[in-house]
Amino acid sequence: MTRGRTTPAGQPNPGPDGGAVRLTVLGSGDAFGSGGRLHSAYLVEAPGVTFLLDCGPSVLQGLKRAGRTPAALDFLCVSHLHGDHFGGVPFLFLEYRYESPRTRPFTIYGPPETERRIHTLHAALYPRQCDEGLPFGTTYVELRDGTPVETRGVRLLPFRVPHVPELVCFGYRIEVAGRTILYSGDSAWTEALVTHARGADLFVCECSTYETRLDVHVSYPEIAARARDLGCGRLLLSHLGSEPLRHLAALSLECAEDGMTIEL
Ligand SMILES: [Zn+2]
Ligand SMILES: [Zn+2]
Repeated sequence: MTRGRTTPAGQPNPGPDGGAVRLTVLGSGDAFGSGGRLHSAYLVEAPGVTFLLDCGPSVLQGLKRAGRTPAALDFLCVSHLHGDHFGGVPFLFLEYRYESPRTRPFTIYGPPETERRIHTLHAALYPRQCDEGLPFGTTYVELRDGTPVETRGVRLLPFRVPHVPELVCFGYRIEVAGRTILYSGDSAWTEALVTHARGADLFVCECSTYETRLDVHVSYPEIAARARDLGCGRLLLSHLGSEPLRHLAALSLECAEDGMTIEL
């Protein structure tokens, strides 16, 4: 079930090998910061492109702890508009205004309402800076279920996952540099994840609970029961809540850690 090289959290690593894709877990925690873990954010680095999957409020801490420069980001891809997945965008904008001045354009992909929700959040957190506008062009691309987009050699396929009824929530199947990553976003367990996992090099799946079965998140027994059927190169559980963290030592499936890097 394991393929690729892993650099443990906190250790320097040399960067992607020629042609390789590197995913760094910036935040493996849930909305509650269970276990002191950071909010959802994953950095993907591949030849010629660097991007984020989700951008929780602790994104700058995650990037800087991992020794990565926020300036390197080409775009952001948001799974859904819950705070632990997009609340870091105003902080990223602030970083680009003051600490890592940015002039090159930035693109944000996400579900419907992404532009309006980010604008509202930015206005609430940093009203003057929001009024003044950003010193770089920002393009919002609001995606549709099942309609892929291609940018900078990356193919993003959003597919709708069952999470909460009031939001359109996406998982993503991402193809970059000959590798495929499946990201669940936040989702209840659904056969759509099984379908899209087949052939992926890496499947990053949320696992919020253990004993508790919810209709908005995956519990450990649900994914453990299907792990052998997935047909993916490597399965990594993340968005870990307090229940799976209490059982961590006994879990047989691989669990993410903040700062962990995976080479594909
Ligand atoms: Zn979440
Ligand atoms: Zn959510």
